[in-house]
Amino acid sequence: MPDAELTAPTVENVRVVVRVRPMDQREKLDGSYNCVSVDALNNTVAVTRNNVTPPEPPRVYAYDAVFDSNTSQMDIYVQTASPIVEQVLKGYNGTIFAYGQTGTGKTYTMAGSNTAPELRGIIPNSFAHIFSHIAKANEDEKFLVCVTYLEIYNEEVRDLLGNNPHQSLEVKERPDIGVFVKDLTGYVVHNADELEKIMVVGNKNRHIGATAMNTESSRSHAIFSITVESSKRGSDNKMHVKMGKLHLVDLAGSERQSKTQATGTRLKEATKINQSLSVLGNVISALVDGKSTHIPYRNSKLTRLLQDSLGGNSKTVMIATIGPADTNYVETISTLRYANRAKNIENKTHVNSEPGDALLTRFQQEIDQLKKQLDECTNEEEVEEEGEGELSEEDLSDDTLTDPEADVLDPTEKKIRRKLRREEKEKLNREKAHLARKVLEEKKAELQRTKKQQEELKDKLQRLESKVLVGGENLLDKADAQRRLLEQAARELEQRRLNELRLQEDLQKKEAERLDLEERYSSLQEENAAKTRKLKRAVQLLNSAKAELADQQREQQREMEGILDSVRALKREIQLADLVLDSYIPKEYQALIEQYVHWNEQLGEWQVKCVAYTGNNMSAPHHANTHAHSKHIEPPDLSDRYLSYGAVSSRPGTRLARPHTSAVPRPHTALRQRQ
Ligand code: ADP
Ligand code: MG
Repeated sequence: MPDAELTAPTVENVRVVVRVRPMDQREKLDGSYNCVSVDALNNTVAVTRNNVTPPEPPRVYAYDAVFDSNTSQMDIYVQTASPIVEQVLKGYNGTIFAYGQTGTGKTYTMAGSNTAPELRGIIPNSFAHIFSHIAKANEDEKFLVCVTYLEIYNEEVRDLLGNNPHQSLEVKERPDIGVFVKDLTGYVVHNADELEKIMVVGNKNRHIGATAMNTESSRSHAIFSITVESSKRGSDNKMHVKMGKLHLVDLAGSERQSKTQATGTRLKEATKINQSLSVLGNVISALVDGKSTHIPYRNSKLTRLLQDSLGGNSKTVMIATIGPADTNYVETISTLRYANRAKNIENKTHVNSEPGDALLTRFQQEIDQLKKQLDECTNEEEVEEEGEGELSEEDLSDDTLTDPEADVLDPTEKKIRRKLRREEKEKLNREKAHLARKVLEEKKAELQRTKKQQEELKDKLQRLESKVLVGGENLLDKADAQRRLLEQAARELEQRRLNELRLQEDLQKKEAERLDLEERYSSLQEENAAKTRKLKRAVQLLNSAKAELADQQREQQREMEGILDSVRALKREIQLADLVLDSYIPKEYQALIEQYVHWNEQLGEWQVKCVAYTGNNMSAPHHANTHAHSKHIEPPDLSDRYLSYGAVSSRPGTRLARPHTSAVPRPHTALRQRQ
């Protein structure tokens, strides 16, 4: 039976942490000064602007954890990602996303550097973590690990592991499995090295756009998803499946396009990228607001795909990355404020037990079916082998029948009759022998076919079984070193935690002593001094509030400019659409169309009424926007996950076979999987 405790939903907030990267060479050469200071004990980040009159107080923001520029990749993993991966291994959904201005370390945090094991980021470290867990699990536990990698560029979804990374894929929704990307390629992986190779292939496909700000700047959002399914026999002697899904998200730069000096195509690109980040902001605002009944998830591909991660069924951590230089003051404040709001998002999480779309269940069923087929084949073969002798020599032997009339016939006639009978018998025997040989040959051919089928079934069974990982198997290979590093980092962290605890206790003791002393002041002078201090603190608070107000106004102005940019871009698009319409569709038809359209709120698209009767939609069966198609709800099968086949011998990992028990798949087959 599934554990009732695990299936009950728990409510928890999105965890938000901040990471500051070190000052880079260019910033040092430019003479920038460090405007960011991190207080790891109180988990706050303070940003101070020098050279302003009147002087401004530092802006201080508190988070769940803060990391200064000396924090190692391993520490980041152990303190932010590791707890999420642990939960994913228990069957929860998890999301880790990096948000921040271009060049502040989002990709460094998520992917890291290949040059040394200790510089690897969250994605490769999570591979080592997952496979080390499988290696340590009991033998009675089975696992299946599957990955997808996609990017959202210009509001178009692209498959980074597919045959054509330029093809735009559709985001769809089904009542049973929720939002998914149609035709997305999924790989079943057997070890951390394989996963790593897949990541490298995907990264190569990632669209990198150069901007004036950073030539390596990524203009796309990338989502690397790992699904871990595990099955275990319960006390009811049945197998129980759990499925945890981990989204590792490297968002596009959060900076406003004015800073990147974008023009033309790049401007349009930037507007769209900002648009999807703005929607992310709106979703966060609506979730935090508490009064909003409508969360605008549908307004961008990013928020649709991450719907569960924000306000849904997912353990989520947001890593906000910032740079230390004063030149980025405005962007840094903007990132910190954005991240601060996200802290208040509440998610409701539960273990995904017995999920309808678990591959492990399907594979196990297929394996059982194949085993049964194989058994049947073997039995048939045995029966056939036994029966092979049935038409042997016995049938071909000479018959010695006695003739009842033999005594009454004269010798000549007897002789003739005997001769005739012998001839007849010989003929019959020849025919029998011929028939028997034919039957024998047919049986042999059938036996050959059965044997071949059996071989194919065995082959298929072996391939399916190889996808399912058994607990305790050593799958770590080269990643073993990575796992050891992680474990060492975890031990060191524990040690530091204990030290911090000791320090904090000391601090509390000193604070108590100080308060004790303060309480004992008696003279008016002391009271006066205390009151002055209080007043100073009040003035400080007032100044902070004023500064906060100014920040908010600046932020609003900034958002307004972004929205206006989008409006301008959209206006241009509408004008173009109008031009096309006016040139090709007569005015009276336009009026007719306008009369018969209505807005479908659920799908977020215009639909023409009664278009099914016009026959228009029949010529374009793949067009998703026709009324007939958009109303159609697909039956809850998993066919979307298994679409096309193709040779992928040059690719790492195993591409999945379409689950088809009677046919034998080609050597390398592909699985298209929902997101
Ligand atoms: P983003 O993905 O946010 O645009 P990158 O991850 O590409 O930024 O980082 C920009 C540069 O800064 C890279 O050269 C990267 O190696 C370096 N960098 C970022 N964060 C750190 C860090 N914490 N420690 C050392 N170098 C860093
Ligand atoms: Mg990047």
